[in-house]
Amino acid sequence: RLKKMYRTDRLATLGELAAGAAHEIRNPLTAIRSTIQYLSKDFSADPVKSEMVTELISEVERINKIVQGLLSFARPSDLNTSDINIEQLINQTLLLVTNTLRKQNVEVEFEYFTDNTTIQGDAEQLKQVFLNIILNAVEAMGKNPPERSRTLIISIEKGTPINTHSRYLIISFEDSGKGIEQKNIENVFNPFFTTKEEGTGLGLAICYGIINRHEGEIEVKSVPDKGTCMNIKLPQRI
Ligand code: ADP
Ligand code: MG
Repeated sequence: RLKKMYRTDRLATLGELAAGAAHEIRNPLTAIRSTIQYLSKDFSADPVKSEMVTELISEVERINKIVQGLLSFARPSDLNTSDINIEQLINQTLLLVTNTLRKQNVEVEFEYFTDNTTIQGDAEQLKQVFLNIILNAVEAMGKNPPERSRTLIISIEKGTPINTHSRYLIISFEDSGKGIEQKNIENVFNPFFTTKEEGTGLGLAICYGIINRHEGEIEVKSVPDKGTCMNIKLPQRI
C-alpha cells in the first residue's frame, strides 16, 4: 500500500515538472520566433537565406506544438461541464476541418441511431478529442492509392445499458486508411508514441485523459491496409 502511494506521488511530481518545463519553454520560444521574423526582413532578397528562415520558423512551430501538447497532457484543465449535444459538437468540429477534408479528398458519412445525443461534458475538451481523431484518420488516408476510398464514417449509437444507471453513447470514427500494425496497437495511447515524421505522439494520449476524466472509455480496432476504428463510450446521465 505504501509503495503504491509513493509511486502515485512521484508520478504527480513528474507531471508537474513536465508541465512547469513546458510552460517555461514557451516564453523564450515566443521571443525566438518574433526575433527570427524581425531579422528575416534583412534576408528577404536572398532566396537561400529566406528558405532557411522559413525552415527555422517551422522548426520553432514544431517545438511549440510539442510543448503545447506536453502542457495539456501533463497539466490537464478541470472539466467545465454542461449539457452538450454530441451531434452538434461533431458537426462543429467537422466545420473546422472542411478545408483539410476537401484538400485530401476525404468523404465523411455521419450517421446517428439515437435522437438523444446529449451528455454532460466539457465541450471544448471533447471537441479537441474529436479533432485529434479526425485528423489522425485524414492523415492515415492521405497516402491511399487513388483506387482506394477515403471515407470516414462517424456514427453515434445508444449503448445497451447493463442496468438503468449506465446509459451511454458510443461514438465511432471509422476510416479506410493504412491501419495500425498489430505490434503498435497497444502503444497508440502512450505519450510520445508516433509513427509520423512530424508527429508529437501526444494526440491520443491527451484524448485518453479527457475521455477518462469524463468517466468514459476509448478503444481502438484496426486492420492493416484496411482501416482503423476509434470507439468512444461516454456516460449519459439523465
Ligand atoms: P501523432 O498523430 O502525433 O503521431 P497520436 O497520439 O495522434 O500522435 O497517434 C499516435 C500514433 O497512432 C500515430 O503516429 C499512428 O501511428 C497511430 N494512429 C492513430 N490514429 C490512427 C489512424 N486513424 N490510422 C492509423 N494509425 C493511427
Ligand atoms: Mg495525432
